[in-house]
Amino acid sequence: MAKIIHYRDKCIGCGVCFEMQPEIWRMSKKDGKATLLRGIEKKSIHILPLHLSIETLTIEVAKACPVKIIKIV
Ligand code: SF4
Repeated sequence: MAKIIHYRDKCIGCGVCFEMQPEIWRMSKKDGKATLLRGIEKKSIHILPLHLSIETLTIEVAKACPVKIIKIV
């Protein structure tokens, strides 16, 4: 299964991912960065399996991220 990879350290907190796809993104009140809900963290990289039902929108979100830190692998 494909995965969503979020390089959270480099997030600039623009909020685009959350606006487009609030089902899996939240903006942290602590540091202002986006958080991938239910993502597993490994060395500040967050990973979540990409279910087919959210694939198309997630690809759009990845394209829309201004600093290109959301990857689909
Ligand atoms: S779109 Fe990218 S830079 Fe903007 S909040 Fe989401 S992850 Fe961070």
